[in-house]
Amino acid sequence: MIGKRFSPEEYVKGVLNGDKVVLGRAITLIESINPADQDISDKILNLLMPHTGKSIRIGITGVPGVGKSTFIESFGTYLIKEKGKKVAVLAIDPSSQLSKGSILGDKTRMEQLSVNDKAFVRPSPTNLNLGGVAAKSREVLLLCEAAGFDVILIETVGVGQSETTVKGMVDFFLLLMLAGAGDDLQGIKRGIMEMVDHIAINKTDGDNTKASKEAQKQLKNALHFFPPAQSTWQPKVTTCSALIGVGLDQIWKTIEDYCSLTKSTGYFEKQRKNQNVKRMHEFIIDALSRDFYDKDGMAQKINEIEELIKAGKISPYQGGNMLFNPKSD
Ligand code: GDP
Repeated sequence: MIGKRFSPEEYVKGVLNGDKVVLGRAITLIESINPADQDISDKILNLLMPHTGKSIRIGITGVPGVGKSTFIESFGTYLIKEKGKKVAVLAIDPSSQLSKGSILGDKTRMEQLSVNDKAFVRPSPTNLNLGGVAAKSREVLLLCEAAGFDVILIETVGVGQSETTVKGMVDFFLLLMLAGAGDDLQGIKRGIMEMVDHIAINKTDGDNTKASKEAQKQLKNALHFFPPAQSTWQPKVTTCSALIGVGLDQIWKTIEDYCSLTKSTGYFEKQRKNQNVKRMHEFIIDALSRDFYDKDGMAQKINEIEELIKAGKISPYQGGNMLFNPKSD
């Protein structure tokens, strides 16, 4: 439970006023997997929907250590100070089922931004996806928009499905890379290269500068071999140093160029509409799965069936059928 309950209208008013405490609590409610919170969180979202959509949504990915949090700290600060923006930062953390640990969350992150009046930094939810209920990152993004944040930065790591999730909710996708980490594109999957709108080679400072510029040339050439994007936008490669704050203006300019191109062609809106449709299908899958897993006695039945499968007494298909379609056994 999260302390004193507000009414949906109180949450909505607080969020629309940009009150970060209320925003944080509204997000906690939306992320709650407690069925008792469902009604109020639906109400809040519905009331806030007309106030969403006005931000630019930017996804940021790259391998651990490339400098994502350093970049977000300095890019976010740049946007606030130089461009007068209000910046919200979210993280999509594919918290590994194997390590049970969080890849993004266990460092102290973005210390300056976290305390900046014009910023809101939301750590990633630590609960794993239980019973197929997807994280509510997209709804969290919408709440931040309703609260008046006009740039939303969404961080993720180059692992698992998280890129696809982020791609499905952002307007612009930025990949951070490092120079000199080999020709194999640093284990970044080809699929990710095809998703990105921009590549920035980070840590372009000190002794690393020359190698970064070289990598920039190579990557530019490599990009020619990728099929043209639906957006008709030609991804660029720039260099930056998140540490000393160099190259940030160029990245922001690129994002602005991207927005004006895709808004003029209609792609910007089209992509958002397609994302909405996809979200609706995800929602259905979530709702079905929640219905299924929340049934009375289901957890117990699942345990029993799991044991039978482990003991080799029934096949996974039989087990699934016995749970899903109990009359058929
Ligand atoms: P993340 O795992 O991708 O979030 O990476 P971090 O932001 O935690 O950065 C990893 C390390 O690289 C830290 O020690 C940072 O100080 C360092 N780092 C990040 N950006 C830069 C940069 O632009 N230049 C240099 N020299 N170091 C950087």
